[in-house]
Parts: sequence; C-alpha cells; structure tokens
Amino acid sequence: MQAVTEVMTSIWPFVQAHPEYAEHALLERLIEPERVISFRVTWVDDAGQVQVNRGYRVQHSSSIGPYKGGMRFHPSVNLSILKFLAFEQTFKNALTTLPLGGGKGGSDFDPKGKSDGEVMRFCQALMTELWRHLGPDTDVPAGDIGVGGREVGYLAGMMKKLANHAGGVFTGKGLSYGGSLLRPEATGYGTVYFVEHMLRDQRMEMEGLRVSVSGSGNVAQYAIEKALHLGAHVLTASNSGGTVVDEDGFTYDKLAVLMDIKNERRGRVEDYAREVGAEFRPGVRPWDVPVDVALPCATQNELGADDARTLIAGGVRVVAEGANMPCDLAAIQAFEEAGVLYAPGKATNAGGVATSGLEMSQNAQRLSWTREEVDQRLRSIMSAIHDSCLEYGRRPDRHVSYLDGANIAGFVKVATAMREQGVL
Ligand code: NDP
Repeated sequence: MQAVTEVMTSIWPFVQAHPEYAEHALLERLIEPERVISFRVTWVDDAGQVQVNRGYRVQHSSSIGPYKGGMRFHPSVNLSILKFLAFEQTFKNALTTLPLGGGKGGSDFDPKGKSDGEVMRFCQALMTELWRHLGPDTDVPAGDIGVGGREVGYLAGMMKKLANHAGGVFTGKGLSYGGSLLRPEATGYGTVYFVEHMLRDQRMEMEGLRVSVSGSGNVAQYAIEKALHLGAHVLTASNSGGTVVDEDGFTYDKLAVLMDIKNERRGRVEDYAREVGAEFRPGVRPWDVPVDVALPCATQNELGADDARTLIAGGVRVVAEGANMPCDLAAIQAFEEAGVLYAPGKATNAGGVATSGLEMSQNAQRLSWTREEVDQRLRSIMSAIHDSCLEYGRRPDRHVSYLDGANIAGFVKVATAMREQGVL
C-alpha cells in the first residue's frame, strides 16, 4: 500500500492530463502482480533436524521483458514486502532503458549464523521448486539482502543441474561461470553516479562534502568506495544493531577492513568499529550526524519523518536512496517541503539491475566485456535515468522533483508497453 500510494499520488496529475493512460483499467492491472508463487522449502540443518521455510517469487510485470529482480533471504520476508519490491522493480527496470520486466522473490530463511553447508542445502532445496518458474527469457533472479555471491552460486548451480541448461538464469554470478565485471559494485557506484548528476545540476560537486551512509552490506560498501573516489568525507556505516560514526572519515584502508569483516569473516559493524578504533552507537541510526548528502543503503522504512527533520536541521542538501524505499512517505514529504533534493531508489539504485541486464547481454553473446566497458555503460545508463527524471520532474521554478520524474518516466514506459500489447 505504501509503495502504491507513493507512485499513484505522484503520477496522478500526469494521468489526469493524459487520461488515455488510465483506459482499460490500466492502473488496476498495473498494481496486481501477473503471478505469485509461494512454496515450502524443506532442508536438513547440521544437527540433522528438518527445517521448514517459506519461499516466494512475485512475477509482477513482463510487459517490457522477462521478469527480473533479486531474491531476498531475511527473517522479515513476507508476501507484502516482496509485492512492494516487485512493484517498485517494474518501474526501476523500465527506467534503465533495457528490456526487463519486474519481479522479486525470497524466503524468510536467515543466513546469519548458518554454516556454508546449511546455506548450500537451503539454496538447493529452494531451487527444487523455483527452477520450473525461471528461464533466460522468462524470469531471471539476482541477489538482494542476504543473497550475495555465495548464495547466487549455489542457486545458479542447482538451476543448471535441474534444467540441464547452462543459459545464465541468475545474474550476480561469479566471474568463473558467466558473471560480469563490476556487477558487485554496480548498485553502490550507480547511486553515487546519480548523485553526481544531481549535484552537477545544482552546480556543485562531491569533493569535500560530508556524506552519511546506512547499512554495511553490498550497496553500502560500494557507495562508500565511489564517494571516496570522488573526494567525499564519509562519516557513517550501520546495521540493524547500530551505527559506527567516524568523524575522521572512511579511508580506503578502513573500507578494506570493513569489506574483509563483512564479506570474508562474516562479522558485523561492531567488530569493524573495534578494529579501527571508531565509535559504535548501539541502537542508533546514522541520521543525527549533520551531513550534506545522506545515502540510506540498508532497508525499507529506515528513515522516518523525525529522522528527516533532524537531517534537514543538520543542513542536508541531497538524499539519494541506495536501498529500496528506505524513506517512508512522511520523510519524503518533509524533504520535498524543505526543498531538499530527494531521489527515490527506483532511479538511484537502478545501476545494479542495469548491470544485471548487461550480464544477460554478455551471456547471450558468449562474451565478457572489460571493467571499463561495463563502467562506461553503467555511467551512461545512470545519466539517461537522470535525464528522464529531469524531463518529467523539472517544475516551472526549476526545482526538480526526482520523485515525480522517476515515477512518471517509469510509468510512461510500462504503460505504453501495456497499451500496445492489448488487455492481458
Ligand atoms: P546486504 O544483505 O548486503 O546488506 C544489507 C544491510 O542492511 C546490512 O547492513 C544489514 O544489517 C542492513 N539491514 C537489513 N535489514 C535490516 C533491518 N531490518 N534493519 C536495519 N538494517 C537492516 O544487502 P544489499 O546491500 O544488497 O541491499 C541493501 C538494500 O539495497 C536493500 O533495500 C536492497 O533491496 C537494495 N538494493 C540492492 C541491490 C543490489 O544489487 N544488491 C540493487 C538495488 C537495491 P544486518 O547485517 O544487521 O542485517
């Protein structure tokens, strides 16, 4: 409901001015997923106990291309969360300019604290059902929260065995079996490329700006790295337990420690704070640290109206979502009213799925592009998304509503494809 309210409120004046986009119950069709798959996943843990989880895949829209969107493993996963993510994904994928429909899936399985063997057996068990619903021209999943390179490897491996088909049915694969260079970096890098465009439009640049980042996973790590490349002063990272605040700022060496702890040793931000001697604030989110740019990169609804007001009082100029829907509706309203440049995840974090689209193209051509080639394409896609936001979001007073721009641009693309293909 929250995601639909945000999109429908934002596109409503456009639809009123162009009523042909609402003909034949188009809006009603757009908010209903084409197909929802829900299934039992049964696996055996290291103690020999049988465990039961729920698995899902929401195939929201194939209007523009095969369903495409990540798999999330987290105890909070339920159908409501996956339906919001699949709905958002449909517009995001439309914005990338690539031929990708929208979907999302996952399970309430919690990979934290599980052994490699348990994670592998769970992934294999999940695929014994999911494989029959996937295919390179049907539905192509990827990673999301709790699903990184390790999990994608186990899922894609089982897919190949069951389907007897080596076509790349997951993206975010390892380089040794068809992955793309720069896919791990793409969401975080793309978010910062988008911020660069937002700042440039205001005749500003990233160098020297104070930046806060929430989360410490895939998106957060590479958003921090790209912000460092551009000379920003990155002060925070976080997780569900609290925030590390470092007024000296991240350096490449500190980021390498964070990546090693999170990705190799599978530790936590608390461990990072201890190792580099930074302050860890338990139970606190990063939003009371005064910054110029805030990048929420953890999860949905992690930034509410009070947080928004604190950020505004601290002088924030730009808020760009690395995560999906991290700002709730009241927070977005507060930013828009205060004239803060706020950009929604469907525009800013689209670099991840765009690079997944590039991985699909490389797989189909049996080719691997260089890092520079992929980066060049990622940059031009983020630039095109920014242009679309300006086209539909620039107001007569020259203020840009990235919210309206992204929602209307994504909607026009999906709605046009739906109208041309008839009532389905
Ligand atoms: P990761 O699993 O790598 O990292 C998730 C981070 O968010 C961790 O720091 C985690 O902390 C924190 N987190 C998760 N759940 C909660 C919660 N309920 N409350 C507070 N913190 C939480 O995931 P990603 O970095 O891949 O994804 C982060 C966000 O970006 C998600 O919204 C995802 O949908 C979105 N996204 C990801 C893309 C990708 O390519 N990976 C593409 C586009 C969007 P902890 O360790 O304590 O759980």
